Amino acid sequence: MKRSTFLKLLFLSPFIGSSMNLKSLKNITDHLPATEPMPVLFLGHGNPMNAILENEYVQGFRDVAKKIPKPQLILCVSAHWETNGTKITAMQKPPTIHDFGGFPQALFDVQYPAPGSPEWAEHIQKIVKKTNIELDLDWGLDHGAWSVIKHLYPEADVPVLELSIDYTKSPKYHFELAQELQILRRKGVLIIGSGNIVHNLRMVDWTKMNDNFGFDWAIEANDRMKNMLINHQYEQLINFHQQGIEFQMAIPTPEHYIPLLYSIALRTEKDELTFFNDSQVGGSLSMTSVLIK
Ligand code: ZN
Repeated sequence: MKRSTFLKLLFLSPFIGSSMNLKSLKNITDHLPATEPMPVLFLGHGNPMNAILENEYVQGFRDVAKKIPKPQLILCVSAHWETNGTKITAMQKPPTIHDFGGFPQALFDVQYPAPGSPEWAEHIQKIVKKTNIELDLDWGLDHGAWSVIKHLYPEADVPVLELSIDYTKSPKYHFELAQELQILRRKGVLIIGSGNIVHNLRMVDWTKMNDNFGFDWAIEANDRMKNMLINHQYEQLINFHQQGIEFQMAIPTPEHYIPLLYSIALRTEKDELTFFNDSQVGGSLSMTSVLIK
């Protein structure tokens, strides 16, 4: 019997006491070295072209990497991997996925050959109790992950896993699932949410993609979200649908916003928030990124 199957059976068995289950859980992480709590990031990834451009955002990504310890592993929740159920990439060598169209060949030529880690994927699968995370061998690194992580760690020498967003679940569910990942911060894991807190592609003014330009509603939504983050107003952030027209325009679909909930759910009382890349492009996209440390 495979070890993973055996452990699953342990958890499912009504005949085995809860102390046994707890012991199994403990053992899984015991042999990993404990570290100081790793920071958590939310990165506004924006235009995939940021992967190959030189601009203030790219510089912001490089700068933030210099402020934090080099991780043992990156776990990235990307806006661009939505699935029915939660999956985690579990292959040894995740392929670089070019999940977009209409961009120059130079962008399709980018490879980000960071290794995966089937072992870590199994660890994380066991840590999360809220759902049965499926080990995935078909995905890889989409541009929500590689277009930003390549600026943090250009050598591609830190293993990267992606955790998918279950599109059937509520924002509250995602927030709670993320809280179960807290233990990973003490195991040298850098958790990154990658999305955009203001992301309305239908309203983008493509002539202003190179300017710091935001529509009034986009600036207001961005500012209000920042205030909610600063003031620990997580209920409001989770119930973003009820925060008025500016939020509805900023979040027409939830996939670019949900990664923020994964990041902020991991904030403890000791963590400070630092915003960076905090500006708008094309009117209706905000690049605002958050360091939680
Ligand atoms: Zn995106």
